[in-house]
Order: sequence, then structure tokens, then C-alpha cells
Amino acid sequence: MTETDSRLRVFCQAPIEDDPEATCGLSYMAAEQIRAAQPAQQPTDYGSALLHARDRMVATNQWTASQFMGRRWAIGCVALEITQRCNLDCTACYLSENSELVRDLPLDEVFRRIEMIFAHYGPNTDVQVTGGDPTLRKRTELVEIVRRIRQKGMRPSLVTNGIRAKRDLLDELSQAGLVDVVFHVDMTQGRKGFDSEAALNVIRQEYIERARGLRLSVMFNTTVFEGNFEEVPDIVAFSVRNADVVRFASFQLQADTGRGSLGKRDARLTVSLLKNQIAAGADTSLSFDTAHIGHSHCNRYAMGLVVNGRVYDALDDRSLFNRVLQQTAHLQFDRQSRSAAVMALAKGVLGSPSLTATAAAWLARKIWIAKMDLLLARCRVNKLSFFIHDFMDVCRLEPDRVAACAFSAMTATGPICMCLHNAKRDAFILEPVRTGGPNGGRYWNPVSGKITERPERITLSEDLRRKPAWRGPRTPA
Ligand code: SF4
Repeated sequence: MTETDSRLRVFCQAPIEDDPEATCGLSYMAAEQIRAAQPAQQPTDYGSALLHARDRMVATNQWTASQFMGRRWAIGCVALEITQRCNLDCTACYLSENSELVRDLPLDEVFRRIEMIFAHYGPNTDVQVTGGDPTLRKRTELVEIVRRIRQKGMRPSLVTNGIRAKRDLLDELSQAGLVDVVFHVDMTQGRKGFDSEAALNVIRQEYIERARGLRLSVMFNTTVFEGNFEEVPDIVAFSVRNADVVRFASFQLQADTGRGSLGKRDARLTVSLLKNQIAAGADTSLSFDTAHIGHSHCNRYAMGLVVNGRVYDALDDRSLFNRVLQQTAHLQFDRQSRSAAVMALAKGVLGSPSLTATAAAWLARKIWIAKMDLLLARCRVNKLSFFIHDFMDVCRLEPDRVAACAFSAMTATGPICMCLHNAKRDAFILEPVRTGGPNGGRYWNPVSGKITERPERITLSEDLRRKPAWRGPRTPA
């Protein structure tokens, strides 16, 4: 065990006494429970991972005919934090006050964690290469990390604020096997000279141009808070206008976790109202309740088909969706190639004549409704997905949601629910890391970077703990 000051291990120390929701049948994890929670133990092999995910869904009453977890996925995705440093200082940042003190994990340790992700979840697992901002890591190392994930048969994504993700880097990463690039752009980042989400579209557009034509699936992440809630429809409309490149628009509601200064979100910011805002931006109703990813209070997913700039709801027939999911659960779709993904889906559906007939009837209805737009767009159709992720506040962790979590963070000893990870981030990032060495018994100190025979006690003075986010040179984009 680490000798790190135990006060640093769990951010939420206070019992929840004044929370009105605590009287509405919800109970939250106590600080002791958070402290005691540990990463998952490594299974004997990943073969049982899907079954294990299914068991978690059953145990938390989330197992439905439209549930992806345990059917197609053993996990939604795993975050691999390769640095704790960042070149922005977001007001909703999930990192810890101590993050900037922590050195980048040694490359061998990152590789070991990649092996662990594979051992837990197997091939085709989506691995988010993240941080901090992963582009602050040495470029050659970042490329090798992406390459290693792909060589293991998993799917790497780069999650970045984009400042350093220039075209040549994206190109190199794409060649190393990167599947997705996820740009985080929003008003919580305090980018100088940008006072609205509409103004930030200049940056979003530049990022799109950097990725255009590369074999990458492009996604945008937005943290939704009081200051940009009204602008969500405009952000959605921007994604619709750029649906030839943008595949995924993801919205995270502000959560009270980490070093961010925003704190608890405004009561107006609910998943339900956010769904309305997204639908307003798409200018159509969207079926956010058809697909089911992990816990229904955590994730909401909708899919639109964009034709001639107009969005058509792709998940409006739940029974058809359930049958397609059932029939194609074993398939993996190539996010880098629309045609390959469509072909794989079509092949899967064609395996069942009755499903083929139902799907053909649905498609015919859609084609009829969209006929004018199809004509004007010369039959060009783009898929655009919308995702809502509702992270939990550090002091309001619901045990059921943690148990059904679809988003893990990889630690030195195994994966753990990201909300739980954020609630005790220091316990993981300040832990001395056991390294190789002759007997496998040496320890890397994450603050000093020294390697010693025994784990060193990590002490943090008050001024060190308040060290601000990385202040390197900033560029407008
Ligand atoms: S990280 Fe938190 S909000 Fe996201 S799926 Fe896991 S428990 Fe739910």
C-alpha cells in the first residue's frame, strides 16, 4: 500500500445531510465506501468479460433487449490517462489539484496497462488515450502508445483539447492506428478571445479541417454548464452542418468533481432538458430512449441520419432496433469507413429474412419521407450520433450506477469506474508504481520520478498542492 497521506485519498469527506434527493429513495456512497472501493481484479481470461458485463446489468436492473453492455460490449470504453498535465485550466476540470505535480507515467507502465486492458476486455475494446491532454506527452511516445493499442487489436481514440493536435500529428497517429479523435471545445476552457460557443465554432472548424480526409472518425465533446446551456442547439446545428466529417457530438453535464471551480450544477441542467436542447438543434425529435448503454441515468444515445443538412431520427423504431442489435450483437463496425460499417450492418441484417423484410419496410418509409432531401443531396447520407453523459458529483455517487458503469479508468492494478476514479483520483495518481527491475520489486515515485527499492512516502506541501494547471505557450487554436 502507498504511504501517501491518507487525507488525499477521497475528496468527499462530508456526510450528505442536506441533499434533498437523499430523501427521495437515493442513497450515495459514504466516504468509507469510496475509500474501500478497489479496481476490478484481472479475470483468468477476457472470454468471460461479456458475460460479466451482462451480470452487472442484470444485478442493477439495466438488462433490457436494447442494452449494448453485455451484448455487444464488455465495456463502453476504457480511459488510459498517459499524463496528468494539461495546457488548459477548465472550470469543470475532473483532474485533481495535485495533478500538475505528477510526472508522466513511464512508457513501460503505460504498455503494461494496455496489456491489462486487453486482459480484462479483449480485442476491439475502445481505449481512450487521454489525460490531462495526451498531446503534451513526448510525440514519439504518444505515437507508440497508439500503435501498441492497435497492435493488440483494440481501438484507440485520442481525447484532446486540440491545441497541439495539428494535422501532421493527426496524420501520424492515424497511420499508427488511431480510430477516433475527440476534440474537447467549449466555454469552460476559457480560451482567450472567445466569449461564446458560436465564437468557438472557428476553432471547431479549424479542427475539422485538420482531420478532413484522414482515416479518422471525428467527435466533439462539450461540457454543458449554465454558461452554455442556451447555446447547445447552436453547437448541435454546427455538427449537423459538418456531418460530412463529424460523426459524434457528445455532451457531458457539468459535475462537481476534481479541481474545477464550477462546483455543483444548476438545477435547470437536467438530462431531460439537455435532450430537448439537442433535439432543438437537430430540428427534429430524436429517440434518446431506444438504445441503452450501461445505466440509463448515466448515458443517453441517439442517432441521426443527415441528408441535405436535415436530420432524420434513425432510432425511432425500438422493436426494430432491438431485433437488429440481437442479430448483429457479435459484429464490430468500422468507424473509420462509413461504407464498411454499412456493409457489415447490411450483411448482419440479411442473415435473418424476417428482419430483412421489417428493416426494408422501415428503410422504404424513411426514403419516402426524405425523398426531396435525398434527391438534392444525390443520395449522400451521413450518420451523426448524439451522446449525453451524466457524470456524478463526487459526493453523490450512486452505488447502482457505479456497479453498472460503462466507462472505466485504468489504474496500476485494474480498471475502475470513472466517477469513482475521479472521487479518489489522488489515491491512484500519487501511488508509487511498481516497476519491472530484476525481481519486479522497484518503485517509481510519481512526484520525484525516482526509482527506489522500496515505495517512498509522498509528501505534499500546501504550495505544491495548489500548483496551477500547466502554463505553457497558448495558441488561439
Ligand atoms: S463514469 Fe460515472 S456517469 Fe459514466 S458510466 Fe460510469 S458511473 Fe455512469
